[in-house]
Amino acid sequence: LRMVSAAPLDDDSVSDEELRPNTLEGFIGQPRLKAQLELFLEAARKRDVPPDHILLAGPPGLGKTTLAMIVSHELGVPIRVTSGPAIQHAGDLASILSSLESGEVLFLDEIHRLPRAAEELLYIAMEDFRVDVMVGKGPGASSIPLTLPRFTVIGATTREGMLPSPLRARFGFTAHLDFYPASELEKLVERSATVLDLHITQTACSELAKRSRGTPRIANRLLRRVRDWAIVHDLSKVDYEDVKSALSLYQIDSEGLDRLDLAVLRTIVTSFDGGPVGLSNLSAMVGEEAETVQTVCEPYLVREGFLVRTPKGRIATKKAWTHLGLSAPEDVMK
Ligand code: ADP
Repeated sequence: LRMVSAAPLDDDSVSDEELRPNTLEGFIGQPRLKAQLELFLEAARKRDVPPDHILLAGPPGLGKTTLAMIVSHELGVPIRVTSGPAIQHAGDLASILSSLESGEVLFLDEIHRLPRAAEELLYIAMEDFRVDVMVGKGPGASSIPLTLPRFTVIGATTREGMLPSPLRARFGFTAHLDFYPASELEKLVERSATVLDLHITQTACSELAKRSRGTPRIANRLLRRVRDWAIVHDLSKVDYEDVKSALSLYQIDSEGLDRLDLAVLRTIVTSFDGGPVGLSNLSAMVGEEAETVQTVCEPYLVREGFLVRTPKGRIATKKAWTHLGLSAPEDVMK
């Protein structure tokens, strides 16, 4: 169980709901995206038609579901929520589509994981607002074309590259969500603390923001663990030292690295002299699946400049050596 996982953990679902802003104004950061979306929605409102389909792409925990909810709220229309993996047959999608109300938002999370047949049905529905419904079974089965009211699909994906281009082409608005700078996460932590009715100092908020890997979901999760700390210790206000103590209990360090991230860096540095070392060797040494090391640790370590991936393997940078409290050899990568 990783506290710093950007994917939802079990106890996130409740908090994801209670901490979700429901207006664009309440959505923190991503200023350009917000401005674009505002214009886009305003135009649709003025024309009095449902907006074009929207694609939201980006890593988990950055606000895709939240934005979909905001769009439905801002337009004052209902939202239906489902996901690629939840739809097993084209028929599942057909029955959802044929029950949509006029103007409704259909949120399709992990849209890159839709089965092929459902994908094809979706193309037609998105373009022509039409779906072929199968009636009956066996030789007597027939398909009845059904005209749908206009609606808006909001697709979300963590793997935009996996979307077939005909599907991508059917979205009139595509947004790429990016990791949040610490300054924006700080505002987010402040807002969430207010919602949770937790008193917390500015420096405590900024420390939490710094350790949250640019990811709102992680920031909110760490804040909840800090709230536990405050409850147990009967604190009336949380300060910087409380954040440090609470998070060190969960072994999350000043850069937001957890035990596994540190094990990866330490292994490269101490067992392989800084690298290069291959992924499978490295994973075996830290006792983790290669997949986990690759998809969970490395992206953040690379982004923050602790690790470099080269054709020969992973190399720890000078920043990694320094962070581990070791002095790097002369020729180490910056
Ligand atoms: P995704 O769908 O991209 O995985 P979510 O939309 O579920 O992410 O966001 C995860 C959590 O982070 C939710 O609790 C949400 O309220 C919060 N969150 C994400 N982005 C923002 C934002 N820009 N402002 C405020 N809260 C946010």
